[in-house]
Amino acid sequence: MSKVNLEDIVSLCKRRGFIFQGSEVYGGLAGTWDYGPLGVALKRNIMSLWWKMFVEDADNMFGVDAAILMNAKVWKASGHVDTFTDPLVECSNCHARHRADKIDTSKCPTCGKSGTFGEPRQFNMMLKTYVGPVEDESAVTYLRPETAQGIFTNFKNVVDTLYPDVPFGIAQQGKAFRNEISPRDFVFRSREFEQMEVEYFVHPDHWEEAFEDWRKCVHEWFKAIGLPESMVHELEVEAKDRAHYSKRTIDFEFDFPHGRDELLGMAYRTDFDLQNIQRVSGKNMEYRPKDGSAPYVPHVIEPSFGVERAIMAVLTAAYSEDEVNGEKRVFLKLPAHLAPVKVAVLPLVKNKPELVAKAQEIYKTLKSCPLYSGAVMWVDTGNIGKNYRKMDEIGVPYCVTIDFQTLEDDTVTVRNRDTTKQERVSIDTLKKALSI
Ligand code: ATP
Repeated sequence: MSKVNLEDIVSLCKRRGFIFQGSEVYGGLAGTWDYGPLGVALKRNIMSLWWKMFVEDADNMFGVDAAILMNAKVWKASGHVDTFTDPLVECSNCHARHRADKIDTSKCPTCGKSGTFGEPRQFNMMLKTYVGPVEDESAVTYLRPETAQGIFTNFKNVVDTLYPDVPFGIAQQGKAFRNEISPRDFVFRSREFEQMEVEYFVHPDHWEEAFEDWRKCVHEWFKAIGLPESMVHELEVEAKDRAHYSKRTIDFEFDFPHGRDELLGMAYRTDFDLQNIQRVSGKNMEYRPKDGSAPYVPHVIEPSFGVERAIMAVLTAAYSEDEVNGEKRVFLKLPAHLAPVKVAVLPLVKNKPELVAKAQEIYKTLKSCPLYSGAVMWVDTGNIGKNYRKMDEIGVPYCVTIDFQTLEDDTVTVRNRDTTKQERVSIDTLKKALSI
């Protein structure tokens, strides 16, 4: 288990504008979360890095952005209507509902009474909705529980428009919805969340190599988002615990504050989905190799990344405490490329126009510098010591302070978040001192 407390992360996220309870002013809506100014920046940095690594920098990967609402036949054909369920138990004493596979069912975790649970029943986790003005059975569809189906249904479109050679992958990022029985552990188990998925299409004879390659890519991803290898664990999922579509699954687990749990999953989905689409839609899903060899329905390796769990892992790995000048300090040791704010600019006083003008000049120069992507913050309220602490808490790698000496010799103070060391540098060499 991680040494970090979940409460510390939740409270920092709320206090500093990363993540708030969804619909908080109305008492909240369980399993939903809103991202504040810093949270949205962190989330976008993670998602953009993923897109760059797995789509833009790859030679055989294609992106799509499919609709969240899909024809209900998609969910019938994929098996989600019949089998996308979790076992639900209800306490006969307090009527609390729990996921049977996540608790010790001999005793109700809500009221503490023993022997109050009956046999579990299967509860479908898809959120149902109606499309169009008539609320009858023909208008029923579901908010997608995974982004994967938007990829499979576009397999033919990508093949027919871009003629890729197998192996190739299609990637998508976007919202997914699951009516989780008990959302918990902050954003870890939400009812609305975001996924980043790849369906990697291979010849059936080559799935094992592709699986191995993707396993390595997943570890590269962990490195890129700053997760220590020692906190990541692979779990080979037994057949009885695998999703209905998978012949092999590895769960990549992480030492979250609430314990070791799934960060992302990687599955060998065989040709399960394309065959289902072929059967239900009547459209041919075969791939025709350009060398004239026999057509076949490709098999699929699917690494499925959850954004919320990545955010939680990044925050857990980054959350640090130390002591500076006899006082406890909390800081987020975020990798600079993920930090929502890369540089903070602090004028030492607010009431000296010359000094403020100089600081504004520096702020504007840094703000427009592509290196920092606009992630530069102007901070002119409160005292300097407190401001440094605030910037540490939101993970700002560098603070630049403009003081009276700046007006005399064009130098500023650069403070490093991790070491708290301050260095006097000339404005000419500032960008070098702030290299991220
Ligand atoms: P779990 O066993 O924890 O319910 P799962 O095995 O059902 O997860 P998958 O269907 O493999 O999850 O989904 C792929 C990824 O999507 C997960 O590894 C996770 O990162 C993310 N994910 C799934 N469900 C949720 C959720 N309720 N909240 C946040 N992220 C989720």
